[in-house]
This record gives sequence, structure tokens and C-alpha cells, in this order.
Amino acid sequence: MKIGVLKETKEFERRVALSPDVVKLLKKKEFDVVIETGAGEGSYFSDQDYLNAGAIVSGVAEVFASDVLLKVNIPTLEEIAQMKQGSACISYMYAYQHPEIIEALNRKSISSFSMDAVPRISRAQKMDALSSQANLAGYKAVILGSNYLGKIFPLMMTASGTITPAKVLIFGAGVAGLQAIATAKRLGAIVEVSDVRPETKEQVESLGGRFLTVEGAGVVKTEGGYAREVSAEFLEKQQQLIKDKIKDADLVITTALVMGRKSPILVTEEMVKSMKTGSVIVDMAVDSGGNCAISEKDKTVVKHGVTLVGESNLPSLLPLNASQLYATNISTLFLHLFNSFGLIPNLEEEITKGVMITHEGQLVHEFTKSILN
Ligand code: NAD
Repeated sequence: MKIGVLKETKEFERRVALSPDVVKLLKKKEFDVVIETGAGEGSYFSDQDYLNAGAIVSGVAEVFASDVLLKVNIPTLEEIAQMKQGSACISYMYAYQHPEIIEALNRKSISSFSMDAVPRISRAQKMDALSSQANLAGYKAVILGSNYLGKIFPLMMTASGTITPAKVLIFGAGVAGLQAIATAKRLGAIVEVSDVRPETKEQVESLGGRFLTVEGAGVVKTEGGYAREVSAEFLEKQQQLIKDKIKDADLVITTALVMGRKSPILVTEEMVKSMKTGSVIVDMAVDSGGNCAISEKDKTVVKHGVTLVGESNLPSLLPLNASQLYATNISTLFLHLFNSFGLIPNLEEEITKGVMITHEGQLVHEFTKSILN
């Protein structure tokens, strides 16, 4: 069985689906791997590294002739047109946002599996690319933000005077937010955190952050650990709390996502105006509409004296680690689904059921079926 890895074509993307180390592991398990020439360059993996690991390095035609394509980003219509009828593809799919791509995969009877649909269960942790990439993104958001700040993070006592620590305000204590808290704390900042899920308070405090509690605003509905529904009353009280805190913040990092929906606006233009000149906002939700009303996707802009960082692909700014971790995630899922004879689909099994989108010309994912039919 042949596994193919394409060079990612999405703008600003530097990651690659397999690292040379993971190629070596797949070779040991008797899979052939063909890598497109130059596919690893953005992640500092040379063609020679892949050859040394036992891969074939070749042009795009040979990669498309593979039985299973492993990718980072959702395949494009042009890529699907070149895929082999009845082959398989594993990548991020965000199926509910891209019905035309899912239909195109289905028309070619391609078995497709979505990395963003891996269930958040202990057994699937090694396949969880959303978490591995969010972890890196949380770290990078702090580093990037600190770079735009004209001041340091830690308390510093010098003969020339005392420098007070920077104040970092973080919205959302999911995987990315928790990593951002840990990174900012290690650099010496004072860190305050807001999340709609009260159960995150303990996690925030264990990392040395201060949790901002929205008092008397009722219970937030959650499902599978995700924030599902926040009442208007809660959002109003939260906004008041943010208004008070944001004026003092040096760096604000927003990570608040609501699965399958546009991100909530937590920082309004008025709030940006109230911030200190020279402060910075890193809007990690910019790809799904943004948590800041005036941040701009893939741009860093200065508005009302505040630098707004709208980098939508933070993991790609750490391509080496991001590709290493993604390669582990995707190969673990691949080995869960395939053996050297081919696909072993068991739709009764939770992980397979969670990730499988199309198979043998059928829409097999409940969610996708409901959207496309
Ligand atoms: P996410 O990226 O979906 O959301 C980020 C955070 O934003 C969440 O904590 C959410 O509560 C918060 N948020 C939403 N609206 C907000 C608002 N208005 N104001 C402030 N904060 C707001 O989260 P994630 O990192 O994908 O994690 C989601 C859940 O999945 C968590 O419970 C996490 O612990 C869990 N998880 C479990 C596993 C596992 O068991 N294998 C792995 C990863 C994550």
C-alpha cells in the first residue's frame, strides 16, 4: 500500500503531513511512502532526509497515484480532480464549512477522514491534531505578542530603577489558552483569565493565573467540554468585567471559540480605544470571525495606538514542531484505520465513526449527512 504526501499549497502554510521520523516508522510497518519533491522544505525537512528515511521522493503525479493521501489542509477541488478514484484522504476537512469539497470527494468514491473530527477522548489523544496545534499556537501567541510590546514581561530591579511586570489578559482557557497562560507566567507576567466554563478556574489557578469570575450570571451550557451557549446576561456581565480589566492590560490574547459557530466578539472597538497606547492584542480566533471587532485576518495593524495581531495560522510559524506533532497525530489515526492490506472501516467504533466523512460513494458522517442531504 502506498501513502502519498503532497506539498501544501495553502498560502502561508509551512507544515507538511509527515516528518522523516514518522516515514521511518511507517516503512517498518511495510507501507510505501511517496513524498512530493520539496514538500518538507517549509518545515526544514529536506528531500534527502525523506530519502534517508526510506521514502520515494517524486513529482506530483506519482503522489496522486497513491492509495492514501495524507495532508494538512483540506484538499482543493483541483487536488481532488487528480486523486485516484476510490482512494483515501486524511486531512483537516471542516466538513460542515465545505460541502462542495465533501461532495467532490464523494463523487470520486474517495474515503475521507477528518483530522478536526477526532473525538476528544483519552484513547484518541495521540491523534488529536487540534490539541497539538493549539498548544503550539498558544505558546506562539505569547511570543509574538511580547515581540510587539515595547516592554518586558518580568519584574526587574536594577540600579536604574524597578520595572513592573507586564499584565497579560487571556480570554478562553482551552488548550491554546492554558498554554498561553503557562508561557506568559514563565516569562514573568501577571496573568488574568476569563472563560465562560467555570470548571476552568482550577486549571487556570494551577498554572498561576488569576481567574476572572463573572458573578451571578447563571450556568453556561457545555457539551463534551465545549462552551455551547452563553446567555445574553452572562455576556453583558462579562463585557463589564472585561471593560474594567482591559484598560490596564499590556497584552491581550483571545482564544474564545464556540464549536461550529462564529466566534463571540469580546473586545469591541470602544474597548480597544480604552487600552493603553503601545499595548497589543493577539486575536487567535481571527479565522472564525475574530474575538476583537477590529482585528484583521493575516494582518498586523495598529488602530487607536494598539497593535492588533491577526495571524490565522500560528502553528505554521513553528513549522518544525507543528509538522512533527501533526505527523504523529495523522500517522496514529492512519494506523488505527488501515493495515497493510487496506482500510478496515468499523463504523461501530467511536474514533472511526467520528472521523469518517465519505466512504464508497456514501456520506457516512451523521453531521455531514444532515448538511448535504
Ligand atoms: P476551544 O478552542 O473550542 O475554545 C477555547 C476556549 O474558549 C474554551 O475554553 C471555551 O470555554 C472558551 N470560550 C468560549 N466562549 C467564550 C467567551 N464568550 N468568553 C471566554 N471564553 C470563552 O477549546 P479547546 O481547546 O478545543 O478545548 C475544548 C474542550 O475540550 C475543553 O474542555 C478541553 O479540556 C477538552 N479537551 C479534551 C481532550 C481529551 O480529553 N482528549 C483533548 C483536548 C481538549
